[in-house]
Amino acid sequence: MQTEKVRLLIIGSGPAGYTAAIYASRANLNPVLYAGLQPGGQLTTTTEVENFPGYPQGVDGNQLMEDLRQQAERFGADLRQGVATQADLSERPFKITIDGSKVIEAETLIIATGAAAKYLGLEDEKKYAGMGVSACATCDGFFYRKKTVAVVGGGDTACEEATYLAGLAAKVYLIVRKPFLRASKIMQERVMNHPKIEVLFEHNAEGLYGDNGVEGVHLVHRRGEADERHYDLPIDGFFLAIGHKPSSDIFKDYVQTDEAGYIVTEGNSPRTNVPGVFAAGDVADPHYRQAITAAGSGCKAAIEAERFLLNNTSNG
Ligand code: NDP
Repeated sequence: MQTEKVRLLIIGSGPAGYTAAIYASRANLNPVLYAGLQPGGQLTTTTEVENFPGYPQGVDGNQLMEDLRQQAERFGADLRQGVATQADLSERPFKITIDGSKVIEAETLIIATGAAAKYLGLEDEKKYAGMGVSACATCDGFFYRKKTVAVVGGGDTACEEATYLAGLAAKVYLIVRKPFLRASKIMQERVMNHPKIEVLFEHNAEGLYGDNGVEGVHLVHRRGEADERHYDLPIDGFFLAIGHKPSSDIFKDYVQTDEAGYIVTEGNSPRTNVPGVFAAGDVADPHYRQAITAAGSGCKAAIEAERFLLNNTSNG
């Protein structure tokens, strides 16, 4: 198989990956970045980004990612298309297989592969993508001011998103499949006591309807097999909050992950348990998952990689 040696390999092209590439190329580390399955990452699936500092009028998600890409390119980062399909991090240089056909031997590695929001798997989620279906209340909630929305899920994320949306929307339904919430007590209380939030226990969404974007959700209220009631609920926005799946599978044999698959890093740093391997952005962040926090951790990871290369000379 074809091999290539690099000082720093960055995997992922969201805000974390591109910010790492900007810093690393300015530090003359000649970083090579592989963009992954979804070049530009999760922000390319949203419309307007209004909370990234520096854009007082907001910025289109695709435009923001294109700006970051060009900024990394300007300083000489080697940006490539390709997906990391296998990893051997047992010793340095680390060996990363790209598209099953080429091996990159990297002195240092920044994993910025992100996380993907989970969806229910309904056809209508795709049909209404960007037209009333969202997996990020912080990104899209603003568009539902004084409107009616539904949030699916019963964990901390769902409760947090429902509470956030209740600050903007006129009414929030929380669609929970079980007869109870899984979220922490304090989040449960916040949701149950909020005058604008109505929790629909033992409910499942079966589909969406609407001619111009989402106008309602087909629901089923199920209390045992014999007791099923199907009905339609008018809503303007449908938010998924049933968890995220971090894209860490190929690294799990080497770097420590938590039970959900998030890469565990040391304290407030991007250092993993493997010296020379750093994790930045959503793949290592179960809590904040914001573009700006991802960008910040990408910066930290590049600085850590530079320090590591200075202190470790093997082939360096
Ligand atoms: P969780 O896995 O905790 O919860 C997912 C929720 O979605 C559950 O209620 C689950 O239902 C529901 N769900 C999953 N699949 C489906 C489906 N197909 N149909 C309907 N409902 C479904 O994920 P979270 O993202 O909420 O939280 C992840 C982690 O992050 C947790 O550890 C959480 O505590 C933490 N977190 C902490 C926060 C904080 O401290 N402020 C904020 C946000 C997250 P069921 O219960 O039936 O399985």
